[in-house]
Amino acid sequence: MLNRVVDVYRVPSFFGVGGFGTDFVVLPDIAFNDIYGDRYLWAKGTIIHEFSHVWDVRHSLLLSTDMNNLTHSFGPSCPGAGKCHVVYIGGIEEPPTIYARTNQLEDFAESVRSFFIPGYGILRPIRRKYITQVLDNHGLP
Ligand SMILES: [Zn+2]
Repeated sequence: MLNRVVDVYRVPSFFGVGGFGTDFVVLPDIAFNDIYGDRYLWAKGTIIHEFSHVWDVRHSLLLSTDMNNLTHSFGPSCPGAGKCHVVYIGGIEEPPTIYARTNQLEDFAESVRSFFIPGYGILRPIRRKYITQVLDNHGLP
């Protein structure tokens, strides 16, 4: 699965902000429009972000899980008996962007994006080291 082709679909913006699966990424037109200042930089960042999800999915989400095991940014919240779910809990290092607080998958994708797009978010040492390691190893460190 790791070496299979990834299909890229560009869709009208009303489909949302992007998507991914094991073998595809969806890139909405909005990523290519000049709404965030530098259209090409935003498009590059969106492509990197979505491909990061594919990379993670093809590793059974172990990349995002492994990074969270280092940062402890997401953990269980159990407000009621038997009603536990995973939420952002802060951890020992801030994620690179506010959107990265959504869940550990977005944290990983936003961290990879921040790694390749200097000035996009703030990539702190634990995440920077982890992303460097997974890139060096083409997968889990
Ligand atoms: Zn995402």
